[in-house]
Amino acid sequence: MKQILIVEDEARIAAFIEKGLKAKGYNTTVAEDGESAIALALSVSFDLALLDLGLPEKDGLSVLEELRGQGLNFPVIILTARDDVMDKVAGLKGGADDYMTKPFSFAELLARIEVRLRNTVNNTTPTQAKMQLQRGNMTLDLRTRKIHIGGRILELPAREFTMAEVFFRHPDQVMTRQQLLDLVWGYDYDPGSNIVDVYVGYLRKKLGNKCIETVRGMGYRLKI
Ligand code: CA
Repeated sequence: MKQILIVEDEARIAAFIEKGLKAKGYNTTVAEDGESAIALALSVSFDLALLDLGLPEKDGLSVLEELRGQGLNFPVIILTARDDVMDKVAGLKGGADDYMTKPFSFAELLARIEVRLRNTVNNTTPTQAKMQLQRGNMTLDLRTRKIHIGGRILELPAREFTMAEVFFRHPDQVMTRQQLLDLVWGYDYDPGSNIVDVYVGYLRKKLGNKCIETVRGMGYRLKI
């Protein structure tokens, strides 16, 4: 079982990530500050770390520098509210493998984690195959984040692509509005909004009206 270190001082976000990863079969450990992150990383063998930049005691970039300095080479994905280009550059120079700006959806985070974990284990053909989700004449390319329909290539805004990905990962399964909110919007939504229905509308327009079925009183289902 893969061990993931979550370095995040905001309890709400740490709990959100932890819950999602546990449901996907990962083992998780949360560190709430930089010092304990380093102590944990030196005593437990992790497969990957998610690292917030704004942390008490020791900030994320210093944590990263220290981990790399100690010879710990597991993939690190930076999570941060700062979308400043300089932070991004510093993070990647400091040895981070990827970068996500908050707020992010769980589905996108998971996709990036899976890419990083796969790259470390092997990078042969089965890996590539899993980077595409196929259904009928549609293929979602998770690397380029584009959809191929027949001979056409469709580029969707990030949130719409993530919703499409969630449907493709759960084919023939009814997805409730709540599940879609959790997976596509994460903690970043207004619970009273009809945003799920609006986005299902967008997808129907682009992928075809019949590809997502309304299951009355329950939610939506991919039907290709
Ligand atoms: Ca923080």
